[in-house]
Amino acid sequence: MQRFDVIIIGGGPIGIACGLEAKKAGLSYLIIEKGPIVNSLFNYPINMQFFSSSEKLEIDEIPFISKEAKPKRNEALEYYRRIVTSNKLAVHLFEEVKRVEQRDNKFIVETTKSTYETSNVIVATGFYDLPNKINVPGEDLAKVSHYYKDPHFYASQKLAVIGASNSAIDAALECYRKGAEVTLIIRGPEVGKRVKYWVRPDIINRIEEGSIKAYYDATVNEIRENNLDINSSEGLVTIPNDFVLALTGYMPNFEFLKRLGIQLSSDEKLLPTYNPDTMESNIEGLYLAGVICGGMETHKWFIENSRIHAPTIIKHILSKKV
Ligand SMILES: Cc1cc2nc3c(=O)[nH]c(=O)nc-3n(C[C@H](O)[C@H](O)[C@H](O)COP(=O)(O)OP(=O)(O)OC[C@H]3O[C@@H](n4cnc5c(N)ncnc54)[C@H](O)[C@@H]3O)c2cc1C
Repeated sequence: MQRFDVIIIGGGPIGIACGLEAKKAGLSYLIIEKGPIVNSLFNYPINMQFFSSSEKLEIDEIPFISKEAKPKRNEALEYYRRIVTSNKLAVHLFEEVKRVEQRDNKFIVETTKSTYETSNVIVATGFYDLPNKINVPGEDLAKVSHYYKDPHFYASQKLAVIGASNSAIDAALECYRKGAEVTLIIRGPEVGKRVKYWVRPDIINRIEEGSIKAYYDATVNEIRENNLDINSSEGLVTIPNDFVLALTGYMPNFEFLKRLGIQLSSDEKLLPTYNPDTMESNIEGLYLAGVICGGMETHKWFIENSRIHAPTIIKHILSKKV
């Protein structure tokens, strides 16, 4: 069995930052990623633009040069991939961690391909794998998706977009501009306050001029092959529909965290337990890094403010070694 000082679960930006810090510190380490490098970013919409400027997404102060101040998905893929390849980081791709077990002060990490022994584990598994379901009849129809990729697909189609945050608003605007007939279904009274400041006026103007129809204080009651029911301040309406994008956010894999023994808060936030000074969880030697730390508050942590987790954790691991 291969043995390491630290195994990092998840090869997102923060998992990569942890690997880089571990390498610099001379620790034996391995990053295990179930998909390609930065799998979540790879699965973002193809034209997605970050709300952060590129220097805020840098890790280890390695310069991130982008065409515009706010980089696009493709530029971020290039940046993080180059960090992995040019630093020859030890990463196993398309390998999923299934179980982590504690045995004699060590952790045994079981994956879909192998089993490893390690003194420390960093969980940097993000939140993009599990969508928040809307739990209505018809949600499982093939025309309903919780992930948006490319506006071309929806040209000349009647598209309902559920949600009012950045993902939903970006999708609504892009698809409208590629010729989709877009209806926005917004649970609250207005477009989300956290929508990128340069995008919010655009969507509000499109709604006001009638190019995009928006229902406020609205929920979807049922989705059928050719139409769907909306309950809103305008009453119950049935609209014709070809496709639905339910972009109502994502959540961390809490079952995975629980299986690892990480305690979650008992309120609806399901915050995982960790010491903010060291990022160590309630289990000694098991750390949390990146957006996973926010539980259901997925807007709390992002690359900008969680990249600091990498040096914090590695410093603590080194202090224990001494
Ligand atoms: C549309 C969108 C736009 C965003 N824009 C910004 C922005 O502008 N600025 C910003 O700072 N943040 C932004 N964020 C937030 C942040 O960029 C992402 O959430 C970021 O990917 C978080 O990095 P991470 O490494 O913590 O998690 P992730 O990037 O999600 O990485 C987690 C990785 O773990 C892997 N994984 C999960 N489970 C396992 C397992 N069991 N075994 C092995 N691998 C596993 C996943 O495949 C994934 O690659 C955005 C998020 C979204 C969804």
